[in-house]
Amino acid sequence: MKMHLASHPPKGMPRAIVLSHPDSAAQLGWPDASLQALRAFWDRGGKGWFAAPSAQGDAYVQWIEADATTPAGAEKHRQAGAALAKLLNASKFAEVALAHPSHPLVEGLCLANYRYTDLFGKQKAANTPALEAIHVHGWEAQALKNLEIRVESVLLARTLINQPVNVLNALGLAQAAADAAKKHGFTAEVFNKKKIESLKMGGLLGVNWGSLDEPTFTVLEYKPANAVNAQPYVLVGKGVVYDTGGLSLKPTGSMDTMKSDMSGAAAVIGALSGAAQLQLPVHVIGLIPATDNRPGGNAVTPGDVLTMSDGTTGEVLNTDAEGRLILADALHYAKRYTPQLVIDLATLTGAAARAIGSYATVAMGNASEPVWSDLLAAGDRVHERLVRFPFWDDYNELLKSTVADLKNIGGADAGAITAGKFLEHFTDYPYIHLDIAGPAFADKPQGYWSVGGTGIGVRLLLEFLSTRTA
Ligand SMILES: [Zn+2]
Repeated sequence: MKMHLASHPPKGMPRAIVLSHPDSAAQLGWPDASLQALRAFWDRGGKGWFAAPSAQGDAYVQWIEADATTPAGAEKHRQAGAALAKLLNASKFAEVALAHPSHPLVEGLCLANYRYTDLFGKQKAANTPALEAIHVHGWEAQALKNLEIRVESVLLARTLINQPVNVLNALGLAQAAADAAKKHGFTAEVFNKKKIESLKMGGLLGVNWGSLDEPTFTVLEYKPANAVNAQPYVLVGKGVVYDTGGLSLKPTGSMDTMKSDMSGAAAVIGALSGAAQLQLPVHVIGLIPATDNRPGGNAVTPGDVLTMSDGTTGEVLNTDAEGRLILADALHYAKRYTPQLVIDLATLTGAAARAIGSYATVAMGNASEPVWSDLLAAGDRVHERLVRFPFWDDYNELLKSTVADLKNIGGADAGAITAGKFLEHFTDYPYIHLDIAGPAFADKPQGYWSVGGTGIGVRLLLEFLSTRTA
């Protein structure tokens, strides 16, 4: 979908207007009958968009009291934008003009208007949103450009997630990351199986044993000359392109959405793409270990012990706890950068989703309080909220194995936290773990989340990175 700056809203196309108060409807210049109908809509507590045909084209008017500069108000504007997208598409409008809309409203409109249609055959047109262009009146060109970059970065992540594994395997994911790097101005290096073997990444290789497709490990780097940080921020994304659970096979129903088990990787690719295009003055590295998790061939079995790249041995007691095995190697790899901070994003545990649902991301780690405060605030501003879980060393007790340094599953309790503590074992730097298992994938459209991958994490990371001063 294209976004245009219009000095004057083009005539004839529908216009959407947000008023801060019903009284300001007088400025619309509508005939009295239309104004009275609008007034009556408000007076009876009508919510959402009021549609009125007019000589200059249909008009949609909404009174939004909420202040778009507060986190809660901004979310109301985003949701209003999503509702508008639904209305316009239902009426098959191809374009809309918006006069002085808030930024979050346009963001919600654009995010809601996305649909993954690549794999439709005869039904493609019927499933493609009618809305093709948004004309924004009254914005600076740079503001529009910035919003477009943020939205496109989210949509890139969503499309990667929505591609099933027969379209996007580990090699495909690495290629997509390399393509994004080339297009948006950062670098990508893709390690093949041979290189991964030379790095002794036993976690990534072990998870890959049951697959016919080779694993990949991708290193992305955006290093602008004016970077404010001497040590890089490292973003690590879980890239399990499909998760059957391995020999600890998942039940059929819960396998339906497992193409989304690389949502962390997608968020990292989206964030690097956005950061480079926004030219944020921050040095950022992205690390993506990728494989599918299958029960074929010599698939890793419960009881097997893998040796990770740092020499730690890990007893695999549940082959469906594979994310932490491949992330262990990536987190160890990150040490070579002496990073300022490492954030990993992973659809890691059902326990995280069960604890707080799809409303937020479970977060934990050992970074400093000022860093936490910035990240939590960034999450609130973009409504990609974080819930901080405890990260006490007491939980390490649950990861003790009788035959190896660690076991890959802690037991029935505190599953999200024991997963995080397993990961922490492979770090020696300030670290935050984001478990996005809850909000990564939408089974049905929900506000500005279209059905499928949500692209969660991209707007959070871009917002956080844009606040960095060191
Ligand atoms: Zn799994």
